[in-house]
Amino acid sequence: MKTLLVAVNSQYVHTNLAVLYLKAASSKAGIDVKVLQFSVNEGLKQIFGGIVREKPDVVAFSCYVWNIEYVVKLIEDIKKADSGIVVIAGGPEISFDNGGLLSGHAGVDFLIGGEGEEKLPFLLKLLMEGKRPDKNENEWLMGYSVIEDLNQLPSPYLYIYKGSLKHKIAYLETTRGCPFHCAFCISSVSGGVRTFNPERVYRALEELVESGSEVIKFVDRTFNANEKRVLDILNHILKFSQKRVVFHFEIAPEILTEKTILKLADMPPGLVQIEAGIQSIHDETLGEVERFSRVDIAFTNLQRILSMGNIHLHVDLIAGLPFETYPRFKESFNRVYGLFTHHFQLGFLKLLRGTALREKSEHYGYRYRNYPPYEIISNRCLSANEVLVLKDIEACLDLFYNSGRIVITLKWIHYMLSGIEYFDFYEKLAYWMRTNGYLDKPVKVSDLYEILHIFIKKNFPVLPEGIIECMRFDYLRSMKNPSIPAFMRKEEDAARKRRNKKKVIEYRTELEQVLPRLKKIPMNDILHQIYVTTFKLPREAGIPADSDIAFDFGDICPVTGFSGTYQLGAKT
Ligand code: SF4
Repeated sequence: MKTLLVAVNSQYVHTNLAVLYLKAASSKAGIDVKVLQFSVNEGLKQIFGGIVREKPDVVAFSCYVWNIEYVVKLIEDIKKADSGIVVIAGGPEISFDNGGLLSGHAGVDFLIGGEGEEKLPFLLKLLMEGKRPDKNENEWLMGYSVIEDLNQLPSPYLYIYKGSLKHKIAYLETTRGCPFHCAFCISSVSGGVRTFNPERVYRALEELVESGSEVIKFVDRTFNANEKRVLDILNHILKFSQKRVVFHFEIAPEILTEKTILKLADMPPGLVQIEAGIQSIHDETLGEVERFSRVDIAFTNLQRILSMGNIHLHVDLIAGLPFETYPRFKESFNRVYGLFTHHFQLGFLKLLRGTALREKSEHYGYRYRNYPPYEIISNRCLSANEVLVLKDIEACLDLFYNSGRIVITLKWIHYMLSGIEYFDFYEKLAYWMRTNGYLDKPVKVSDLYEILHIFIKKNFPVLPEGIIECMRFDYLRSMKNPSIPAFMRKEEDAARKRRNKKKVIEYRTELEQVLPRLKKIPMNDILHQIYVTTFKLPREAGIPADSDIAFDFGDICPVTGFSGTYQLGAKT
């Protein structure tokens, strides 16, 4: 019996750990299965061809909000190609509501609810013996259940080979479940945290580091739920600090302990990335969704992490939570934005299957899309038009702030417009971007500077021209390219190259003192790596004004992605 386990991932760089767990569990039961991984970008016909050409007897799909609509169509097409193929579906999207979109679907033979490592091999064994599950077995298969002892599961990482995850994200699971019970989150359903033994985790880490992946994401829902475990794992990953790999953790910032913060401070720059959920700053909202509400502690801890400078910090806020009206959301936005983290993700509530908030959606007047990812359209506190405005603000936040390429400029603008709140600035920017058609088409990163400049000139003409100097600094530092857009250029390319050479020669001794590697590099190579230019930056930008600054394109910060910058010949 030829069985395929099929994952359709949301992006090419993603990989699916669930199908590897299922392969390992099937193999332990003596059943050979083949894993196929696709991404939604490959298109239905290509995925269909990839599956049917294998001539399978059984196809099992791993179903999530990002792929369920594809899976529904694929199942129809596969059954048309060969009605004898047995189709099985499992995963979060079919674990609730009697199988969700696949409930009663004529093409699906079996549904598996909850964690499938025991259920799938059981079902495949029956099928191999030419049997079918009886009524009780079928109920057990469809019901939601979890694996109590995770350590009895065979390792999925055995199927991740050396070099096989180049340019992809590797996922590592050291726990399942979450100690918290947020009403909007599927992870609250399984109840409590189950853990894998540390030895398994360390072995898996070795295997994933060898996989060639540059980002290893811990999928643990609250990585810092147990202090000892966090400290042990952080100590362990220190040994990979020379391996050009980043470890990404999701944390609850309000329960970070002093010891954990101090350990994080010890991490080499760029080894660790942190994602922290804030979701709302309002106690009434947080209480209603059963989320801890120690917002002040969370902010203090996040500020400490930011001030350490060695960790890339990403924070999340959710629009559409109960009692979060437009003015209240604005308060949440302003406070989170004011942290100036490296990434600020504004998400929109999804009424996911199996969550308490979806169960109580009528109570809050939620209107949400009937199709995945079941995103909010409106609720009693937020109109559909307000949600649309927030969507445009999210688009602007992603384009400008989260590009990470306009950091100094934005800080300077906010400083100069200190009477205008962050949210109000983005609301105005979003309206202007919408009415000028910029939100309807892709915008090149290099064009962001000029678009922002036009917006500022039209809407805040009082702002002095210092903005161009800030932008030039941001451009050089983040784009690592001295060929800057025409609107901020002061000279033609040939003149710029001549002047750069003159400056590098003038400052060569000083440059070699701060960058000793330059002593061994010929001048032509230095000119490709070092760019010196004079700035008349506004003092409020927080960078030395009226200076010659060297940009070192050969030295990129692993936390921010910026080139190294050095003030030369300090005039002020
Ligand atoms: S939102 Fe985070 S903290 Fe809350 S239940 Fe989900 S994973 Fe746990």
